[in-house]
Amino acid sequence: MALLELRNVTRRFGDFVAVDDVSLSIEAGEFFTLLGPSGSGKTTILRMIAGFDLPDAGQILLDGRDLVATPAEKRPIHTVFQSYALFPHMTVADNIAFPLKMAHHDTAEISRRVAGELEQVRLSGKAHAYPHEISGGEKQRVALARALVNRPRLLLLDESLGALDAKLREEMQVELINLQREVGITFVFVTHAQVEALALSHRIAVMNHGRVEQVDEPSRLYGFPKNRFVADFIGNINMIEARVEEAGHGHLRLAAGLGEIIAPPLAGASTGDKGVYAIRPEQVRIGVHGELTELKNHFEGEVHSLLYQGDVSVYRVRLANGAMIEALLPNSAPGRAELFEAGDAVKVGWRHDAGMFLND
Ligand code: ATP
Repeated sequence: MALLELRNVTRRFGDFVAVDDVSLSIEAGEFFTLLGPSGSGKTTILRMIAGFDLPDAGQILLDGRDLVATPAEKRPIHTVFQSYALFPHMTVADNIAFPLKMAHHDTAEISRRVAGELEQVRLSGKAHAYPHEISGGEKQRVALARALVNRPRLLLLDESLGALDAKLREEMQVELINLQREVGITFVFVTHAQVEALALSHRIAVMNHGRVEQVDEPSRLYGFPKNRFVADFIGNINMIEARVEEAGHGHLRLAAGLGEIIAPPLAGASTGDKGVYAIRPEQVRIGVHGELTELKNHFEGEVHSLLYQGDVSVYRVRLANGAMIEALLPNSAPGRAELFEAGDAVKVGWRHDAGMFLND
């Protein structure tokens, strides 16, 4: 049985449907992420799980029991918000002890558990510091320790790394992964940052306009997006309008403005279907005239522009029909910035199984 289950949950604000018939099943021990653009309904779902808000329709079950009648403070669920919300006049240790004091545990028990929690987040040396005396990353760890000290069944994290700068954010991501694996508590994380979702999660639900577009493991979401929205929202991707010319024999033959494209088969696709062909920039190779002919998909073009980014360079190649294709190439040779320059006549090509046709 799933630890947490949402069954056909809907939440309306007036005529506006913020969460639209959402069903999700989250397993014990999972790091599960709700990912979607601003306004897609992620926080509203989190608030209903926490008990700060109620669904207009549907059920939310924890261990198979409906939560609707259980008030927020009685749910074995803790929420960490982006702002951390530490008590500024309390020391780190007192902040962590707070939930235990509220639950009237005895003093010895509280000291023992706070010490354990401080060790877990490697802040034993900062027990007597006040929040204004510690760094952003340390505040984040205190907030997590306070959230975990009561051993909730479920920890909800709302954009909780959002306030940190990029470098610290990356450190906290590693921290969060390790902590979650160590304590084994189920995490439900809300974010609109797709890279973060890919790095942290066991599974991700991609949300759009209050609906779930796809639930999958990170590598499957990236490699096999179900539709245009997911393909476009997760990572960068080239999209080319295309029509199915021939379906069958283990591949699709597509007609596109730039020529014929061979794509992997798609269940349910048939001749005449319109959609897009999608190919990730890191799958696109660049060569000179006469090269890349071993690839089923290859086209002549001209380098339009390039962006040097240190580890990689992003090339934009204009094809004969005017279409622009982006290719991401690693700069693996030291000191060598670019393989091609703007204006160079080149070819782009990719394996026929690298891209995909999407008709939704
Ligand atoms: P963000 O990433 O910006 O936090 P989100 O995906 O978490 O976005 P929600 O906060 O769940 O989105 O909001 C979904 C939609 O519901 C938004 O359009 C929002 O304006 C609306 N909404 C949320 N709460 C209320 C409310 N109390 N009253 C009216 N509308 C609301």
